Amino acid sequence: MIDTHCHLVYENADPEPAISRARQILDAIITCGYPRDYEKNIEIVEKHREFVFLTLGLHPVDNKDMSSEEVDKYLDFVRSKKDSILAVGEIGLDYHWFPEKDSEQGKMFVESFSKCLELAKQLGKPVVLHTRKAEQDCFDMVVSHGIKHAVFHCYAGNMTLARQIIDNGFFISLSSNINRSKNTKKIAKSFPLEQLLTETDSPFLSPVPGKKNEPANVKLVVERIAELRSMSVEEVDRQTTENAVRFFNMPLELKDKGLSNKEVNRLN
Ligand SMILES: [Zn+2]
Repeated sequence: MIDTHCHLVYENADPEPAISRARQILDAIITCGYPRDYEKNIEIVEKHREFVFLTLGLHPVDNKDMSSEEVDKYLDFVRSKKDSILAVGEIGLDYHWFPEKDSEQGKMFVESFSKCLELAKQLGKPVVLHTRKAEQDCFDMVVSHGIKHAVFHCYAGNMTLARQIIDNGFFISLSSNINRSKNTKKIAKSFPLEQLLTETDSPFLSPVPGKKNEPANVKLVVERIAELRSMSVEEVDRQTTENAVRFFNMPLELKDKGLSNKEVNRLN
């Protein structure tokens, strides 16, 4: 089981207790770093090698206070970390917080997102997409930039676009909020399991009201998918874990599951 998207050091949280609990049941955690917290994320990944992995991205919330030069400088840094990151992300657009897409700021977000997509292409890395209320525009940009490997994290768009995402060979990742919408349940139930990933987006989206979310809760996502598909938890676990290893090209030996990364690569 892999939590493919969380924020381990969000707001200076001490990630160690959550990592210990995750070690009991997960194969790996992928933490997602922003310009404001990448240093701490890198520290944690170095401390927990082969268990905690890293993606580095640029969220619109960070981007809003950055000049174009600052964005370039940060992306140069991400480039320099190429061997330590699995993907570029989360990146994308957010019309919930920034609905004025025709404003100067809106254009600036599009420009930054383009730069991020080009960087991922140059590095040969997949992208992790944040597409809040901007699913169609993000999809169109990913396609027009010729991106081949993309995951729509926490997808909350319509079903027509969800189908297109899958038909294009992209992935959708199901999160701890899997029960909150009819669409996510439909995706979990009937979309090709080979193109689904699991995540918590912790500390956000807690499945337990009033409690902080954490990577170990990805178990609840896997269990819910299994329930919706009338499959065993083991089967869903095996497939979604394999998906994550393959999508992110993770250097993991999945011994217990009889599947090594070498074999996974051969399947690619
Ligand atoms: Zn996130």
